[in-house]
Amino acid sequence: MGPEFMNKIQSVRGMNDILPGESPVWQYLERVISDVVHSYGYREIRFPILEQTQLFKRSIGEVTDIVEKEMYSFLDRNGDDLSLRPEGTACCVRAAEQHGLLYNQQQRLWYRGPMFRHERPQKGRYRQFHQVGVESFGMVGPDIDAEIILISMALWRSLGLIDSVRLEINNIGTADDRRAYGQALTAYLKEHEAQLDEDSRRRLLSNPLRVLDSKVPETQALLEYAPSLSAFVSPDTAIHYDQLKALLTANNVCFTENQRLVRGLDYYNNLVFEWITDALGSQGTVCAGGRYDALVAQLGGRGTPAVGLAFGMERLVLLLQETGKIPDSVSQVLDVYVMYSEDSEQDTAIILAEGLRRQVPGLRVQCHSGGGKFSNQLKRAFASCASVAVIVDAEGLRWRKLSADAVAEPVESQILVERLRALML
Ligand code: ATP
Ligand code: MG
Repeated sequence: MGPEFMNKIQSVRGMNDILPGESPVWQYLERVISDVVHSYGYREIRFPILEQTQLFKRSIGEVTDIVEKEMYSFLDRNGDDLSLRPEGTACCVRAAEQHGLLYNQQQRLWYRGPMFRHERPQKGRYRQFHQVGVESFGMVGPDIDAEIILISMALWRSLGLIDSVRLEINNIGTADDRRAYGQALTAYLKEHEAQLDEDSRRRLLSNPLRVLDSKVPETQALLEYAPSLSAFVSPDTAIHYDQLKALLTANNVCFTENQRLVRGLDYYNNLVFEWITDALGSQGTVCAGGRYDALVAQLGGRGTPAVGLAFGMERLVLLLQETGKIPDSVSQVLDVYVMYSEDSEQDTAIILAEGLRRQVPGLRVQCHSGGGKFSNQLKRAFASCASVAVIVDAEGLRWRKLSADAVAEPVESQILVERLRALML
C-alpha cells in the first residue's frame, strides 16, 4: 500500500457522526416529538433526500442565501440537475402534490430527517443537520396557525424547556405588500448606503427585506428609523394576525412581536415566527415557521393554504444538554446483565437471557460474552449501567443489584421473572 492509503479517511467537514453515547438523547427527543405530533393527529410522510434542483429554486427563491450559495447541487450520470435537500417543506409539498394528497383535502403531515447546507460549520450550525417538520395544508384560518404554534408549545412542555425558549412572531403580509415595502425600504436605505455593511448593500439590490435580518450593529441602528413593514401589510392579513394573537393569548402562549423578523426563505406570507433560546449563543433559533399560502400553486398545484414549522434537532439536543433537562433514564439503555461463574454455565446463561427477553416484554438484557474471570465479568456488568446482574452458577441463579455495596442473593427463576416484571413498571 502506498502512503496515500495510510491516512485515515475523515468525515466530510460539517457532517457529524452521532455516536452510541449520544444516540439515546436523539432517540428520546425523536420519541417525544413523534408523541407530540401524533397527539395532534399529524401523520408522517417520508420523501427522498435528493430532489430536482429546480424544486428548491422555485420554492425557496433564486436570490436567497440557501439557493445562491448553500446547496449541494450536482449533475448526476444522466446530466440531471439534483440537490441534496436543504429543507423539507418544498419536498413535502412536492410529494403531497404528486400523490394527490392536496386535491380538495386537508392534510396534517410531519417528517424528519437530514438536511444539507454548505454553511460555515460552528456550534449549532452544520452542513448536514436534522429537522423535524410539521406542515398543514388546506386550512386557511388563524386557528391552524395557532395549532402549529401550540404543537411547539406542547413539545417545550414535554421536554421541560418552556422556560428556556421564547416566541417571536411577525406579520409579513402578502407578496405584493412586501414588494411595496421593499421599495420604500430600499429608498430609505439608499439614502444611507454609505453606512450599510457590505452584505446588506448587496441584499439591498437582490432581496432588501433580508437587510432587516442583519446582525451588524450600525445597520441595526439605521433600521431604527426605517419605514416599518406593519404600515404596508394589507388589512386582511392584519385581521388574521390579530385573531391569531388572540388565540395565542387565550392559550397562555407568551410571545413578542418582532417587526424585523423575516425568514430566509421566500415562500412565507402573513405569519412568520421563531422560537429562540439565549442558551446557545448566536445559533439561538431552535424552531421556525410560518404560513406559505402561495407555495403549492407556485409548484404547479392548485392554490392551497398552508402553514408549518421546522425544529432544528442538533440545537435541541444542545439545549437539552445545556439546560440539564435530559432525564437520567435516557442514558440507561440496559436493565439486566446476565453473567456466569464458570465458563461451563455459558450455554445456560444464553438460554436464560433468551427466556427473560421473551417473558418480560421491553426488558433489555445483555448476556456476557467470552467467559473469563468472574471479577472481570462483574466489571463489565457495572460498565454496562444495567440495574441488576443475574448470575448463573452451578447451584442456580443469583440476583445482584448493581449498586456498589449490594450482595448477590439466590433467586428462584419464577421469582426472578416477577422481580424483573416489577422492574419494568
Ligand atoms: P438560521 O437563521 O439559524 O440560519 P434558518 O432561518 O436558515 O436558520 P430554517 O431554514 O428556517 O433556518 O430551518 C429551521 C431550523 O433548522 C432553524 O431554526 C435551525 O434550528 C435549524 N437549522 C437551520 N440551518 C441549520 C444548520 N446549518 N445547522 C443546524 N441547524 C440548522
Ligand atoms: Mg440559515
